[in-house]
Amino acid sequence: MSSDAAGAACRLLGREDIPPVYEVNTEGRSPFLLTSDHYGRLLPRELGDLGVSRSGLTRHIAWDIGIAGVAERLANMLGAHLIAQRYSRLVIDCNRPPGAASSIPVISEATVIPGNERISAEEKEARRREIFDPYHRRINAVIDSRVHAKRPTVLVALHSFTPVYAGVARPWHIGTLYHRDTILPRLLLQHLHQEGDLVVGDNEPYAVSDLTDYTIPVHGEARGLINTGIEIRQDLISDQSGQQRWAERLARIFAEIEATLRIEGPM
Ligand SMILES: [Zn+2]
Repeated sequence: MSSDAAGAACRLLGREDIPPVYEVNTEGRSPFLLTSDHYGRLLPRELGDLGVSRSGLTRHIAWDIGIAGVAERLANMLGAHLIAQRYSRLVIDCNRPPGAASSIPVISEATVIPGNERISAEEKEARRREIFDPYHRRINAVIDSRVHAKRPTVLVALHSFTPVYAGVARPWHIGTLYHRDTILPRLLLQHLHQEGDLVVGDNEPYAVSDLTDYTIPVHGEARGLINTGIEIRQDLISDQSGQQRWAERLARIFAEIEATLRIEGPM
């Protein structure tokens, strides 16, 4: 194999593939910086369908169903910058440390991902270099420029979760995910409980850890930003009216939280 061919073999995204990073409101003035690691379910042409059925590629294993519509609306309602990633988490999971078993999953819930079996170190590196790295470099650069401009930045990582996992129904409508932040998750939980009509998860259905997460530990905690993750149950946001209702609810709550943060001084 010539060196050209070897180089080409390590390339993932071609001319017809669109860039991984998607942004809304890059000039948004809100202190909230929104991220969506599992926003999209695109597959690079090079990877075909990864050996997964069409129905498999639209399930929660491929992306966070409904979160794109919530994230985009919420960004516009708040005037907040949203940075999202368009490729499926089955290609490379942008909220996993590279190298973790779940970064390029061979099995997700009960579904085998044939296109992820027996792939070379070069192929793994290409997925990281062309999808994972540009997304996280962009988040990092945006935080850098906001810090330099002395603009307050509150990181909110948006996710959705499947209502039934491994046969077990999940009762929560929404959950906060956090680890080291002692400010925002507490405030958000207070507001969500005050809504009165919600079953709220406190680090449910997931908690954040350095081994199982990337965006909050690296961009939130390591940079000293006030931060939280949010998980919304997918059946509540599977259509546009649900996405609109949840975006409106969260926009109202975040406006109240912003006022509190400004009064209490941490922002
Ligand atoms: Zn997610």
